[in-house]
Amino acid sequence: MNRSQQLEALATDTIWDIIVIGGGATGLGSALDAATRGYKTLLIESHDFAKGTSSRSTKLVHGGVRYLEQGNIKLVREALRERGYLLKNAPHLTSVQTFIVPVFSWWEKMFYGIGLKFYDLLSGKLSLGDTQILSKKETIAHLPTINTEKLSGGILYFDGQFDDSHLAIELAATAINKGATIINYCKAIGFVKTNDKITGVACIDVVSEKKYTLKTKVVVNATGVFTNAIVQMDDHLQHDLVSPSQGIHLVVDAKFFPGMDALMIPKTDDGRVLFAVPWHDKVVLGTTDTPIEEISFEPKPLEEEIDFIIKHMNRYCTTLITRTNINSVYVGLRPLVKQKRKGSTALLSREHHLSVSPSGLITITGGKWTTYRKMAADAVDNAGFIGKLNKEKCTTAHTPIGDEALKENRMKEILKNDASLKEFIHPNYPFIKAQIVYAVKFEMAMGIEDILARRIRLLFLDAKIAIAIAPMVAGIMASYLNKDENWEAGEIVKFTQLADQYLLK
Ligand SMILES: Cc1cc2nc3c(=O)[nH]c(=O)nc-3n(C[C@H](O)[C@H](O)[C@H](O)COP(=O)(O)OP(=O)(O)OC[C@H]3O[C@@H](n4cnc5c(N)ncnc54)[C@H](O)[C@@H]3O)c2cc1C
Repeated sequence: MNRSQQLEALATDTIWDIIVIGGGATGLGSALDAATRGYKTLLIESHDFAKGTSSRSTKLVHGGVRYLEQGNIKLVREALRERGYLLKNAPHLTSVQTFIVPVFSWWEKMFYGIGLKFYDLLSGKLSLGDTQILSKKETIAHLPTINTEKLSGGILYFDGQFDDSHLAIELAATAINKGATIINYCKAIGFVKTNDKITGVACIDVVSEKKYTLKTKVVVNATGVFTNAIVQMDDHLQHDLVSPSQGIHLVVDAKFFPGMDALMIPKTDDGRVLFAVPWHDKVVLGTTDTPIEEISFEPKPLEEEIDFIIKHMNRYCTTLITRTNINSVYVGLRPLVKQKRKGSTALLSREHHLSVSPSGLITITGGKWTTYRKMAADAVDNAGFIGKLNKEKCTTAHTPIGDEALKENRMKEILKNDASLKEFIHPNYPFIKAQIVYAVKFEMAMGIEDILARRIRLLFLDAKIAIAIAPMVAGIMASYLNKDENWEAGEIVKFTQLADQYLLK
């Protein structure tokens, strides 16, 4: 993945089959899908890949146990099928994770036991393992820090886990490999219309500030919570399509939840589920669901959300968590669909929403990471129809994502040229300096944040240490990007200000 090479395609007079706006899960999935169907595909992302919600998930590849409780079996079955595909197509970025639901009465054991056995049954051949009913002793063996007062046992079930932004970057690489052009830091700023139909996109390369006007047969808007701006760029009279709901996560040391299992709290005070999930040798606690007014690229946690998670976790666990134990707090925004748009042609499910505007703009939003592939397939099916493209079948259910062997060879090459890059970026973490070089050379990382938030996940794992090593990261990046000391100093200030928001004071 070389950004300069990708940019060259913008200077040509290409008529794209599809332009995708937005480089999160949905957009990248759509670009991969379109490219594998042989369509001439361009994706532009205004920031870095997965800068939005797609790097801020709870990191679960799941069917959604809570939708089962709501009786939405079709949705759960679809997500479980997608879970199965993703685990098969990206085994190096996903894993099977055991979850334990602690229960405190005979009735709870029956209720959650039957429910989670049914959850597993719904996954059919793509089952990850049988749901098991645990005794009190077995539950404590799985969750050594669980509060044993009134504990009667537990339910063990299987789901998937993943690294969200790594998957996004590998989707981008795979799409490029299949022929797509994919560019980060390139923002859509307008549409070109002929007889009221979209025939082009105006965009700006945020790095060089160069503007381009591109021709296309169809446009897919996959901008998540930023959807309204694109919809209104198409038609300024359109009402808001999505309203955001915020979810925060707290990241703590593994000592609070020792062992390999995740904890699932089935009912919080506001009637939702809450997780403690092992991730990169830390534990992610979350999440919340708070409607908010303002959309931001760096949403901020509310005090009541932080207190909510700590209070619930401390109710279930004996190793009490305080604010000082939080290594990082990160926040994501869910794009909740507000109302059907004028001219909508499809409402595909309660989970994801697809609409086509009178000018032919296809907007795909909602859903979840787990179902990104299905969302992409729906978006590209519709794009093929609107853009009058050759009818081609979606094949992404069986398209492997990433190329581990290539990655390994490139890494060996980097280390052969400079053995000092074997050094750890910090003694407490297993990441090495060569990963910084790799991200600059092959993953379009342009600044410290791209490295420490989305290529190496240190900002999410330990914001204090991320700030401490920022100057070293800037130094290595500068030498590979041909940048001077002013660039380094500017990057360090910018990153430190951003990372400060991930610390709890
Ligand atoms: C708190 C929380 C926890 C979650 N946990 C899970 C989970 O565990 N498992 C799961 O399956 N799902 C989970 N989800 C859902 C999942 O994260 C989202 O469904 C998914 O990431 C949405 O991806 P997206 O591509 O639609 O949006 P985004 O990731 O937000 O991508 C949209 C992109 O569009 C770009 N953009 C905006 N404007 C422009 C423009 N003008 N030009 C170019 N680009 C533009 C943005 O920069 C952004 O990168 C969670 C969501 C939240 C909020």
